[in-house]
Amino acid sequence: MNEVILDELYKNLGKYVTSEKMCEKLGVSRIAVWNRIKNLQKLGYKIEGKRSVGYVLKEEAKDILIPYEIKRRLNTKIFGKKIEYFRLTSSTMDEAEYILEKDPDAHGTLVVAEEQTSGRGRQKRKWLSPRGKNIYVSLIYTPKNMDVSDSIAMMFATSIAIKEALSDFGIENAKIKWPNDVMVNDKKIAGVLLETRSEAGVLTNAIIGFGINVNMEEMPDEIKDTATSMYIETNNTVDRATLLSNTLFYLENLLNILVNEGRSKILELWKEYNNTLGRKVEIHSDGEVFVGLAKDIDKDGFLLVDVGGNVKKVVTADSVRFVDEK
Ligand code: ATP
Repeated sequence: MNEVILDELYKNLGKYVTSEKMCEKLGVSRIAVWNRIKNLQKLGYKIEGKRSVGYVLKEEAKDILIPYEIKRRLNTKIFGKKIEYFRLTSSTMDEAEYILEKDPDAHGTLVVAEEQTSGRGRQKRKWLSPRGKNIYVSLIYTPKNMDVSDSIAMMFATSIAIKEALSDFGIENAKIKWPNDVMVNDKKIAGVLLETRSEAGVLTNAIIGFGINVNMEEMPDEIKDTATSMYIETNNTVDRATLLSNTLFYLENLLNILVNEGRSKILELWKEYNNTLGRKVEIHSDGEVFVGLAKDIDKDGFLLVDVGGNVKKVVTADSVRFVDEK
């Protein structure tokens, strides 16, 4: 019902729509329309009403992250055509997993939350997810015949898509830290999390999660020194629905490239955008700690670290710290 009201108001942006017309379109009473309008106003829509005339939407929504607004901006073929929206959830990853269990054909379904109580990073590390400021999403991706060794490239593609979307909003200096973080001046602005299932080396489905710090004016104490947001970097409030739909557009394109042309283009872009190669890194791996020079990535995207002439392959479960940042 909200969608019908919004369609009508957007069609007449800046002009009054009579209450009679709304009632007719919806087949409900004036009171029912009025209640809906009140809800939309609570969401942040600048709708004004005049008893004698009807309702007017004064301006396009600036930062309302509901499916209607995301879909209005989407330019994808499949990603985000179906959206599950939560004002509050434990984690969009859990919700996506649940959806996938019920419907193995949920390819392209997007789970969006305004707030997460147990947002997570890799190795079950916590992803702080305060309400109404940022982006927390998980995308269900069920490719046909994708090799499980494409997983890192998928993660890279997601970070690259986020980097491209940030640059649409004036953040040109974002870099990607191996394997999954998008950084601005070595502070984390976004994180990517990939959870996959496979059978006999073939990736059957994936949940691609990402969080972007968008309109947070201040970072919580525990990540003050290591994290940043788009607002902190630019002093501007960003329309999250546009940022998200742009990210999905880039991601859909990049994953199509991965599927149709293989990994090389994705790895090449990652190399162009990364902030890790050539730096001294400290790796925490399975209780072991070593320091070396991040030399390169291999053909699958694993990090190759030169430790005193001995090249070690770093896997994605490991934690990477820049030695000069400690
Ligand atoms: P680390 O950042 O600890 O080196 P990592 O890069 O693998 O590890 P992830 O698992 O991707 O990190 O994300 C979890 C970590 O990110 C947390 O341990 C915390 O340090 C940091 N973090 C949590 N919430 C946020 C957030 N909203 N923005 C930026 N960083 C965050």
